[in-house]
Amino acid sequence: MELFAYIGEEEFSDREPRVGLKQGVTAAGNIPLVVMGFDRHKIDNAALRRQLQTQANTFGKTIRLGRFVFVEAVVVIEPQPNLPTVHVLGQGRALCGFHAGPPSEWPEGHLWVGTTDDPQVKLPKEYAACEACNSLLRAAISEAGL
Ligand SMILES: [Zn+2]
Repeated sequence: MELFAYIGEEEFSDREPRVGLKQGVTAAGNIPLVVMGFDRHKIDNAALRRQLQTQANTFGKTIRLGRFVFVEAVVVIEPQPNLPTVHVLGQGRALCGFHAGPPSEWPEGHLWVGTTDDPQVKLPKEYAACEACNSLLRAAISEAGL
């Protein structure tokens, strides 16, 4: 996995100079000049080089096209399957109000727990707790001083 980017110091900073991604005027508008290896030609062309040369001359800052190589996954976000959503039931309805009726009328994929269950609704990983219901339940418990 390769990434190419134009980097250089900020031109208009009143703080310590920082190096960051340069932007350029492209067909897609004014965008950060970063692309994957297979798109390198999009930022490594004469039109962008002229823009960047003008910036470098005007502000006296060096600009570099760098190649970056993947080193570490700091955060990994993977697609999740559609998990059944578990709502908190209060007075026969979901606290979040996603549906006006009782659970028997809810669409498939929605389940419930009662307000006396664990407020954090610690569920097996094959279920997703409804964030809105949990927030409302936690707020109600906090308000009641429980
Ligand atoms: Zn809910």
